[in-house]
Amino acid sequence: MSFQNPVFIPGPTNIPEALRKACDMPTIDHRSPLFGDILNPVLAGIRQVLKSDSAHVFVFPSTGTGGWETALTNTLSEGDKILAARNGMFSHRWIDMCQRHKLDVEIVETPWGHGLPADKYKEILKADTDHSIKAVLATHNETATGVKSDIAAVRAALDAAGHPAMLFVDGVSSIGSMDFRMDDWGVDVAVTGSQKGFMLPAGLAIVGFSDKAYAATDTARLPRTFFDIRDMEKGYAANAFPYTPPVGLMNGLKMSLDMIAAEGLENVFARHTRIATGVRHAVDAWGMQLCAASPDIYSDSVSAIRTPAGFNATDIVTVAAEKYGMAFGVGLGEVAGKVFRIGHLGMLTDAMMLSGLGVAEMVMKDLGLDIKLGSGVGAAQEFYRFGS
Ligand SMILES: *Cc1c(COP(=O)(O)O)cnc(C)c1O
Repeated sequence: MSFQNPVFIPGPTNIPEALRKACDMPTIDHRSPLFGDILNPVLAGIRQVLKSDSAHVFVFPSTGTGGWETALTNTLSEGDKILAARNGMFSHRWIDMCQRHKLDVEIVETPWGHGLPADKYKEILKADTDHSIKAVLATHNETATGVKSDIAAVRAALDAAGHPAMLFVDGVSSIGSMDFRMDDWGVDVAVTGSQKGFMLPAGLAIVGFSDKAYAATDTARLPRTFFDIRDMEKGYAANAFPYTPPVGLMNGLKMSLDMIAAEGLENVFARHTRIATGVRHAVDAWGMQLCAASPDIYSDSVSAIRTPAGFNATDIVTVAAEKYGMAFGVGLGEVAGKVFRIGHLGMLTDAMMLSGLGVAEMVMKDLGLDIKLGSGVGAAQEFYRFGS
């Protein structure tokens, strides 16, 4: 593995030099106004990225998975009914977490490569006339399949059914790289982490709670200690955490939010769309197909690319690492061996992306696939020259 090459795994993503430096700090008193100077801009900056005026924002020393647990344990009680679709590895894992917390999950099995079935959600919510469903889970961007789901449509399904269930959204691989509208979409808990769109090392769970989800902590009976948002809030009031905060990472997050704001949130999204579109042109030129079933659900942060039947897609990842020192993502779960993934989120430029496409082509040719060198790179180049 060459440490000079960018990585093309869909998280952790490439870390800008300025953020590496921001994480490297001398010790400060983490219960002092000095820490408040880091904490308070972080909380305000996250609210902006979530597009929320009123979200209660919390940052925990954890990862996205801890964000899921924060959402569940602060708002729900044993036996509560949850509605969720399973359309990839990450939605699967969140469902598994619900079950381990003794929540009663109604699972809508959805083909991998498809988006969340908002119509089916609507049907189920309408039929739930006594409102036994307490929360609906939605994975905004299924990182395993490269599928983006329509969260506004899930909100519309809840509203059409006149259903009061809370809407919990996993935005771990979308927030900070694809448009996310916590307030417009009526999201009750938004979950993300530090190592994807925020371009930092893993180590922080980032969550936003609506007023409704925040109030649910009064009645929620699931055990919670480390991830208790009320304890965290008391900590914040004193410029602190209830325990020792990872100060360097928090400082990195402060700078990451500054970088995103300086580029402009909409420009960050446009850059992701442009880079992703170039990748899709390359995939097309290779004569290959995405796992995502239709263009309206193509993810701008990761592409899962199907390889021909009988070919082990994981070999691409192995050879890329061993021979060229470059990292791509393997297929997970149901699509293991059937797809390889190109992560294209976080700190990335057109030029970096072309290097990834160039290596992918060499590897596929090395492995005997019918790929013309330069075909995908050329298609992406043509797009990057003029694409906006
Ligand atoms: C990466 C990811 C997670 C898991 O996050 P961790 O930080 O690894 O715990 C959850 N959901 C999605 C959609 C992801 O991409």
